[in-house]
Amino acid sequence: MVARPRTVVADPMPEIKSLALSVAAWPARMLFPPVCAGCRRQVTQPGALCGACWPKLRFLEKPWCEVMGTPFSHDFGAGFLSAEAIANPPPFNRARAAVAYSGVARRMVQGLKFHDRTDLAPWMARWMLRAGSELVADAEVVVPVPLHWRRFYWRQFNQSAELARTIASLSGVPFAPGAVRRLKPTRQQIGLGQREREDNVRAAFFVPSEAEVDIRGRRVLVVDDVYTTGATVVAVTRALRKSGASAVDVLTFARVLPGDFRPDEADTI
Ligand SMILES: [Zn+2]
Repeated sequence: MVARPRTVVADPMPEIKSLALSVAAWPARMLFPPVCAGCRRQVTQPGALCGACWPKLRFLEKPWCEVMGTPFSHDFGAGFLSAEAIANPPPFNRARAAVAYSGVARRMVQGLKFHDRTDLAPWMARWMLRAGSELVADAEVVVPVPLHWRRFYWRQFNQSAELARTIASLSGVPFAPGAVRRLKPTRQQIGLGQREREDNVRAAFFVPSEAEVDIRGRRVLVVDDVYTTGATVVAVTRALRKSGASAVDVLTFARVLPGDFRPDEADTI
């Protein structure tokens, strides 16, 4: 067999190509003038954050609890679990989050959720892919935490679905936006303690029969914007397991770290 020489084609028109790319970038820049998501100040380059806000974002890194994804101050070795994972083992297999939920991260979440800063979704999704690389590698389907249709109707936007869609398209894992539905319009989680949050979301989710084919026997990656007490993703995990998911992992943009919990700061629904 004769090895075929590899053809190398020089890029004929790099200038025209870069001009075309910059023109393609216009509409986004006109729709979303580059404003920092942390402080709303104008920035020269389109991006998520300005130079002052960037260092305020706390990326979660290893060493962390293999189950909860919460960082440890020291490396205790592989398989070491957090007190939270031991005291209250979750129904999901693993949870990971890109950043700690405070300050700048909180403003990014609220910008995506309430102010239609959809331009933030690709940045947030890329950071989530980095934190959740092991989970994404194992995932067979990506599922967002749903809004109730009534809330979706008014807001016209589900921030978790936006993040999940971007993660699915960047990773090539199939996306199943309708695999989990919200049965009842749960109250806002603002101001609720952990027990009240669990009551609020218990039995709030189900897998419709037409979606079971996407779930049964599959490793599911559930995507949400914020992990607060975990009550929401626990309820979603239970619904998925009930419909035959072989494993459930949870990937969120931000996470309230144990000890940081303030009910008035968090609103995951
Ligand atoms: Zn800023």
